[in-house]
Amino acid sequence: MHCLKVTLCSLLLLALNLVQALPAQQSKQQIRIDDMLLTTEQFEYLNGTDMPQSALAWPQYYWPQSTLVFSISTQFTPYEVQKIQEAMAEIESVSCIRFRQTDNIKENRVAIQRIAGMGCFSALGYQHNVQPLSLDTGCMHKGTIQHELLHALGFIHMQNDPRRDDYVIINWGNIIEGAESQFQMWNPFNVNNFGVAYDYASIMHYSAFAFSKNGQRTIIPKVYGAQIGLRKLSPWDIVKLKLAYCLN
Ligand SMILES: [Zn+2]
Repeated sequence: MHCLKVTLCSLLLLALNLVQALPAQQSKQQIRIDDMLLTTEQFEYLNGTDMPQSALAWPQYYWPQSTLVFSISTQFTPYEVQKIQEAMAEIESVSCIRFRQTDNIKENRVAIQRIAGMGCFSALGYQHNVQPLSLDTGCMHKGTIQHELLHALGFIHMQNDPRRDDYVIINWGNIIEGAESQFQMWNPFNVNNFGVAYDYASIMHYSAFAFSKNGQRTIIPKVYGAQIGLRKLSPWDIVKLKLAYCLN
C-alpha cells in the first residue's frame, strides 16, 4: 500500500512538473523544450553554457547495443499499439536499430504512455533511467510517433541546427510570445550534424506555421518551394540514424 502511494505521488508530481514546465521552463531535473524533455546536463551541453564536469558525452545518450527498450501502457487500444509497432518496424527496416519491449519495471526504458492533455513529447536520448514518451490521442500517426521515437533515440529538431540561418528565415514577429526559445540555435560545437546537409525534408523539422500567433509563417525556407514540417523519415534522417547507431 505504501508502495502504491509512493507510485501515485510520483506520477502526480511528474504530471504537475510537466504542466508547470510548458512550454519551455526549467525545473530542477528536467527542462521541456516543446516536445522534448532534456536533463539539465543535456540543456547545458546543447547551449554550451555552464557545462558541468560531470556531463556525459553525447554518444552516451544513444541506446546501448542500438536497442531502445520500451514498455507500452495499457491505456492504448490494440489499434494504437499496432500504430506504435508499425512506426518502430519501419525504423528497424531502414537501420540496425532495434526496439525491445520489456515488462520489467526496474529496467531502464522508454515508458510509452498517454499523459492526457500533454500532447506528444519524449525525453531526449537514453537517459539511463525510466523516461517518458507521451502520445495523446492526436499523436497516433506513424510519422508523429516516429518523430517522438527519434527524440528518444537522441535526435533534436532540425531548425535548432546552428547552420539553420543559411537555410531558413525565422519570422520572430509571428511567433507566439514566450515560444521564442523553441527556435534558438544550439551550440555549434556541441551539436552533431554528422556532416550531413541541412535537411528541409527531415521528420525532425518544424512546419512553416509552428508556434504562429497570427496564422502567418514563422519559418520560411530560403530555397523556393522547399517543403518543411513533413512527417516521414527522409533519406538523410535514415543516414543520420545509421551514422549514430550502425557504424560498429
Ligand atoms: Zn519534436
